[in-house]
Amino acid sequence: MELLGVIGNPIAHSLSPVMHQAALAAAGKQGIYLAFLVKPEDLGQAVRGAKALGFTGLNVTIPFKQQVLPYLDALTPEAESIQSVNTIAFTGGRIVGHSTDGIGFAAAAEHELGYDFTGKTVLVIGAGGAARAIVAQLLSQQCRVYVTNRTEARAFTLLDLAGKDPARLTVVPMQPQNLESIMAQVDAVVNTTPVGMKQQAAQPELPIPAELLLPQHLVIDIIYNPKQTLFLELARQKGCRTQNGVGMLVWQAVKAWEFWWGITPPAQVMYQAVEDALKASLR
Ligand code: NAP
Repeated sequence: MELLGVIGNPIAHSLSPVMHQAALAAAGKQGIYLAFLVKPEDLGQAVRGAKALGFTGLNVTIPFKQQVLPYLDALTPEAESIQSVNTIAFTGGRIVGHSTDGIGFAAAAEHELGYDFTGKTVLVIGAGGAARAIVAQLLSQQCRVYVTNRTEARAFTLLDLAGKDPARLTVVPMQPQNLESIMAQVDAVVNTTPVGMKQQAAQPELPIPAELLLPQHLVIDIIYNPKQTLFLELARQKGCRTQNGVGMLVWQAVKAWEFWWGITPPAQVMYQAVEDALKASLR
């Protein structure tokens, strides 16, 4: 019996249990995947406890993706470069941290749209944890990346990701006139802020003005609830190709399986589990 779970706080909203449990059943794997609400002061005990109990692995979500680092024995290069972990494997007596957020993001575009980011020019809106993983992935695919963020100083904290090639990553102020000057060169626009999420209805609902979008842009919003944010809807009206955050959610989970067992789970089953859970949340 494989023991798995996701640790976070809050955790009740997590779709990981339904997604992984559906995949376990479809793949004929004996396993159980649960969500665990962990207090920040208990994080180390939770990770060591899972190891002691014989867990195969864990997923890690807000707010522990960075906080979990001191409790791990080793990091994969992906986790090392962004100093963030969303997947843990208990393997050979060691606790190994990995990040599948960036590769999951790229895999979603590849599998849903046949889109390859290699060498593309991308505007990333936001500079938090998800942006960090996505920017690192894009840079690993030789992209030219622009980052814009409400708090400009935070966008500059991503510059270390560009390593020896700083010219490939530029911070752009969020004022429309600054953004406008780069939009013609951009192939894809990615919203990594929560602006447009259900719970944020009282906030401004667009991460950047939709007038800045051009029909040639691929527009991705990593929000998955709602599936169609106002930003995606306006992008679609402008003639842009669009993608929501369900794909990233599913493919980061697919990549977690590849890390735990070296096998690819049935992604369509995971998509269906997420769609069903999102529909149920609307009722
Ligand atoms: P985070 O680390 O807290 O970063 C949030 C970012 O959004 C920051 O850059 C922040 O700007 C910006 N932001 C927040 N509220 C804003 C507002 N009202 N106006 C403008 N900018 C705002 O969060 P995260 O972990 O990166 O997650 C961000 C979003 O991605 C969430 O909606 C999350 O659900 C989603 N996500 C989706 C997936 C997926 O699999 N689809 C995976 C991870 C995350 P400041 O620096 O100015 O605060």
